[in-house]
Amino acid sequence: MTEANTQPEVNIGLVGHVDHGKTTLVQALSGSWTDQHSEEMKRGISIRLGYADATFRRCPGVDAPECYTVDEECEDGSESEPIRTVSFVDAPGHETLMATMLSGASIMDGAVLVVSATEDVPQAQTEEHLMALDLIGIENIVIAQNKVDLVDRDRAVDNYRQIQEFVEGTVAEDAPIVPVSAQQEVNMDLLIDAIETEIPTPDRDPGESARMYAARSFDINRPGANAAELKGGVVGGSLVSGELSVGDGLEIRPGREVEEEGQTEWRPLETTVRSLQAGSNDVESARPGGLLGVGTGLDPSLTKGDALAGQVAGEPGTLPPTRNEFEMQVDLLDRVVGKEDDESGESDIEEINTGEPLMLTVGTATTVGAVTSARDGECEVSLKRPVCAEEGAQIAINRRVGARWRLIGVGTLS
Ligand code: GDP
Ligand code: MG
Repeated sequence: MTEANTQPEVNIGLVGHVDHGKTTLVQALSGSWTDQHSEEMKRGISIRLGYADATFRRCPGVDAPECYTVDEECEDGSESEPIRTVSFVDAPGHETLMATMLSGASIMDGAVLVVSATEDVPQAQTEEHLMALDLIGIENIVIAQNKVDLVDRDRAVDNYRQIQEFVEGTVAEDAPIVPVSAQQEVNMDLLIDAIETEIPTPDRDPGESARMYAARSFDINRPGANAAELKGGVVGGSLVSGELSVGDGLEIRPGREVEEEGQTEWRPLETTVRSLQAGSNDVESARPGGLLGVGTGLDPSLTKGDALAGQVAGEPGTLPPTRNEFEMQVDLLDRVVGKEDDESGESDIEEINTGEPLMLTVGTATTVGAVTSARDGECEVSLKRPVCAEEGAQIAINRRVGARWRLIGVGTLS
């Protein structure tokens, strides 16, 4: 198998309502279970973005779509050929975790919207996630109508029509709807065919400077490891542009919070890339696509417990500024989406007011800001925790509605 076909080259988000089968579908396509954390297992939901790589393959001499598979052996016993490796980002379906889903969206090149055939359309997060894809501008979408093994033909057809009606006028209007059973692995070839057609690998310029959005960070040392054996901090995330190689210099912003004489300030971190892990392989250099683990020379206490999640890394001197406040152009939704029937609170979205708190997702960073000034379609916010972001960056805007944060619109940093 050539290395080119086994390195993930595109990130595909799995979105949709809780229990509709996202994680099962990723498992059917990749053979790995993305709910890796024991806490997640206990709660039964993906509380962190989970990544899993899948290599799509083709059986020689067979027509599409039957030729598509993830198995190395074809039905006639011949060996299948790898076509492309994709990385699935299994987003959480639980609504309170919308911000995590949105931060994942900033690193998605396309999405599979999973809709269960056993329930009416749309369920709360089916609608909320589709709206988020729309806002973030993710246009390459495939809809998997899942659990068709549990319904009869009439119900499946009726549900299919409901999906068509639901996506009318949205970014997913022209997305193919593929009936599947993730659990019984039915129609996986059709689904791979649709993904191959609808979610191409984006054109990327390897000459651009490296830019990585950190989604995780870790201390990989065992407790009590002695100083001589200590490994540097590890940062996990996705490259959105350029190439990163072992030995490269690396700057991370906003960096660390430093307190001096009662003043706090954020200082960028600088280090070098000591190792790179793409998927489960150690590599010398990496391009965008898939989850990347970057071993650094940083003190592991700086990377422990996702301390650098939401930060931006890249070639020193090329990163956008760190901002403690910013101004943005605002586009509000028409109404609050994704509300359960039994929830109270207003459904209309009022203009943003001076003084109100907002939860903002910028890249993979989520931060709370207070609105310091609000005018027609524009507002200024002062942030609790700064973000590294450039002009034109997209920001998901959440407001407290009833008991929780709700997506109310999108901002563009000006
Ligand atoms: P997620 O919350 O969207 O990630 O949903 P999961 O993948 O965890 O699936 C929720 C439940 O639905 C699990 O018990 C799965 O075994 C089951 N499930 C998922 N896909 C199918 C399917 O195609 N058919 C059937 N019968 N059950 C499924
Ligand atoms: Mg799941």
